[in-house]
Amino acid sequence: MKPTILVLGGGIGGVSTARELSRQIGNEDGINLARILVFEKEKSSLYAPSLTWMMVGKREEGQVYGDLSNVELGGIEVIYGEIASIDPENRTVTSNDREYKGDYMVISLGTKLTDTHDLSRYGHNFYTSAGASSFYEDLKKFGGGEIAVVVSSLPHKSPVAPYEAALLIEGYTREKEIRQNTNITLYTPEPEPMDFASKEISEKVRRLMNDKGINYKPEHELTSSGKNSLTFSTPEGTTAAAPFDLLAFTPKHTSPDIIQEAGLTGTSGWVEVDKQSLETSYENVYAIGDIISFPIGDGKMLPKAGVFAQYQADTVAHNIARMLRGEKPNKAFEAKGSYILDQGDKASKVDGSFEAENLNIKTSSMIRHWEKVLTEKTWFLKNF
Ligand SMILES: Cc1cc2nc3c(=O)[nH]c(=O)nc-3n(C[C@H](O)[C@H](O)[C@H](O)COP(=O)(O)OP(=O)(O)OC[C@H]3O[C@@H](n4cnc5c(N)ncnc54)[C@H](O)[C@@H]3O)c2cc1C
Repeated sequence: MKPTILVLGGGIGGVSTARELSRQIGNEDGINLARILVFEKEKSSLYAPSLTWMMVGKREEGQVYGDLSNVELGGIEVIYGEIASIDPENRTVTSNDREYKGDYMVISLGTKLTDTHDLSRYGHNFYTSAGASSFYEDLKKFGGGEIAVVVSSLPHKSPVAPYEAALLIEGYTREKEIRQNTNITLYTPEPEPMDFASKEISEKVRRLMNDKGINYKPEHELTSSGKNSLTFSTPEGTTAAAPFDLLAFTPKHTSPDIIQEAGLTGTSGWVEVDKQSLETSYENVYAIGDIISFPIGDGKMLPKAGVFAQYQADTVAHNIARMLRGEKPNKAFEAKGSYILDQGDKASKVDGSFEAENLNIKTSSMIRHWEKVLTEKTWFLKNF
């Protein structure tokens, strides 16, 4: 019997894991040393970093998804359908009324997104392709007024995305010559932009927003929504009513129900893993990507970002391939990487070690914008 690896989720972490496993194990078409089963409920895989471009008409539906059938080579099979249950103790998964057993299991099921405060009645959840696209439909008709970008709760994936959304919307309104009669405001419960980073980085992002005339309202906790108006609680204990004509919001993020039902979540509400191997408390069961909690000191968490899901996938795939060859795992995940904040024509880049808070921010340039575009193109070319 060939060894079997179960990969739960066909998003950024799952696709990266399957591809890297296939390569590291030495699978080739016709000669497969191991079976790699990817479980995914959708037919295609969303590349969420492109959603902010979709909000301003720079990407369409067909450009933000990869067809999962293109991943099915090199011993990779995709099992389509909702995973109904997970048994980490026995490394089994149930999908389509069938039980699958693996020698190894890698969980990358992302987050469950829920709209709170009835926000979807009044605005657009831009963390989904449907919401990003419907926001753009309304933006096209928008002739001026109040635009609100609201972070409805913490934590959320991609801490940079709401800032990027506000900056891209600002660029769009300038291009369409409606900037002079448009107010853009970003409301967030965070005390400062990207508070996982240093004071200096937060200050630079604040300045960037300020230079573009975007109103920034930190420490604003959403308490209710209504037609054309939102209410927030602020540290002063007051509630501020905020008017809007067009609203984009982030949903509430939690770990998926099946993860909680499988007893995989720790006190944080997320899956706790060994920080170097990414193994859970169950032997040969690994978790990566948005689903994990990864403390980086000072009560801060590693941001939920695709770039880390990919590095974690590389680490886990490398070590599993070694174990299949009878070798000891020898790769440890390091929370290093870079994150680009796009403004349309230019972009800034934060990079370094997130764990050691040894991060720096590189000033805006056109090259960094194209670097982000290249990252997207590479994702699709390499994987689909
Ligand atoms: C607007 C936006 C902008 C972003 N920008 C960036 C950026 O610039 N850079 C960056 O690094 N990151 C960015 N991110 C974050 C990045 O998209 C995520 O961190 C990344 O997708 C996490 O990968 P994952 O594999 O953990 O989860 P996902 O990519 O969400 O994949 C999870 C998969 O599991 C599937 N699934 C869930 N439950 C089940 C079930 N029961 N059965 C079967 N399948 C299931 C889902 O359908 C999904 O395909 C952005 C995110 C958003 C929303």
